[in-house]
Amino acid sequence: MNVCVFCGANPGASLLHVSTAQDLGKGLAENRFGLVFGAGGAGIMGAVSDGALAAGGGGVIGVIPQPLLDREYGRSDLTDLRIVPNMHERKALMHELSHAFVVLPGGLGTLEEFFEVLTWRQLGLHHKPMIVLNADGYYTPLIDLLDHAVDQGFMTNTDRALVTILDSVPEVLDHLAVHRNDLVAGGPVPNTEPAD
Ligand code: AMP
Repeated sequence: MNVCVFCGANPGASLLHVSTAQDLGKGLAENRFGLVFGAGGAGIMGAVSDGALAAGGGGVIGVIPQPLLDREYGRSDLTDLRIVPNMHERKALMHELSHAFVVLPGGLGTLEEFFEVLTWRQLGLHHKPMIVLNADGYYTPLIDLLDHAVDQGFMTNTDRALVTILDSVPEVLDHLAVHRNDLVAGGPVPNTEPAD
């Protein structure tokens, strides 16, 4: 089972985000989940892949467009490096290879990837879990915005419940472990929030 991690190409202002990313990569590998990520060697991307590679285990697949190989310090030490022609194919392949998504701190690229795959789920194009790891409250303003969208009638509670928000790496690993059989079978993962 592969878990796609969307995350920043920069390390961010807090060292905590780097160590959380390393811990997540390590935890995924130790629990024999494969890691799918953007193949970059810098920032949070570098940290999550460092953690996974050091622990061995599940395999690390990087997906990167040729033009970004230099700019994002594309790694050549992965289990599997897929070079694609453009951003659209990157996201499509990351989605195709993965059974679940975890979002770590990042910037515009991370947000874009998260929201596009989330809207695919909203449309029923897939049933893969979307987990936001809200380490150190980084995503609290985003979560508040989603709640605001519900309050203002632009989003349903059902769609809001498609995002699972967890605060720590162990919670993410537990959540993935609970759903492992369903995910590998490609079955739907039940929402934990009440429908509207
Ligand atoms: P950032 O969160 O801005 O540091 O970007 C994280 C990653 O998202 C980087 O590897 C970017 O190349 C990638 N990214 C940015 N835009 C897109 C996109 N439209 N589709 C796929 N990946 C993207």
